[in-house]
Amino acid sequence: MVVILLGPPGVGKGTQAVRLIDSVGGEHISTGDLLREACRDGTDLGLEAQGFMDKGDLVPDLLILDLIRDHLSTMDSETSIVFDGFPRTIAQAEGLDGVLLDVTRGVNEVVVFEAPEDELIKRLSGRRSCTDCGAVFNLHFDPPTSEGECGRCAGPLVQRSDDQPDTVKNRLRVYESQTAPLIEHYSSHPASLKRVSAVQPVNDVQLAFRAALGIGLTV
Ligand code: AMP
Repeated sequence: MVVILLGPPGVGKGTQAVRLIDSVGGEHISTGDLLREACRDGTDLGLEAQGFMDKGDLVPDLLILDLIRDHLSTMDSETSIVFDGFPRTIAQAEGLDGVLLDVTRGVNEVVVFEAPEDELIKRLSGRRSCTDCGAVFNLHFDPPTSEGECGRCAGPLVQRSDDQPDTVKNRLRVYESQTAPLIEHYSSHPASLKRVSAVQPVNDVQLAFRAALGIGLTV
């Protein structure tokens, strides 16, 4: 199964993807995580991507499609995939169809997570992530037990530089102009498109997400 998660920054796509994969298996592919790793490792891709990411702009489509092609080439073609934060433009969606076709696969499901903008801004401003294990906490909704320390591995918690208010505003604008048109795009695609409200407790979002995919209802 190939699933695409759509929805604005801060809506909880990563959280929901990780929960699903932890319990049913498959691979979570977050282009944001792959790019941050490339930046940390100082690769050519990381050096090119950093400036776009710092401003909250999109990294060019060709770089992203190369990244996805390379990543998929290392994977078993039977493994289920949940794409999070990809595709983000119509050109990426069309590129993905081509890449998947090469490995005789296609997109099966598209799930759109929805929440109002004031809620997204609150979530993004409270988000903190562990520099060691990548676990994500939220000061407003899921605070770490000790301030500034990861509850999983005791690593340091930091705020992503692109979660600063001005960058957040730009990321939301970029989502509306370049990524939201994918909802219309996938409405006339063979994949099925479902909408899930992200304005409910995390477990309930997960239940609604699974119901949308037609898979088991236990969290
Ligand atoms: P995310 O972690 O998904 O919020 O992504 C963080 C940043 O990485 C975005 O603001 C973009 O600069 C970049 N990025 C992640 N995924 C993509 C993508 N599919 N296309 C272009 N840029 C991306």
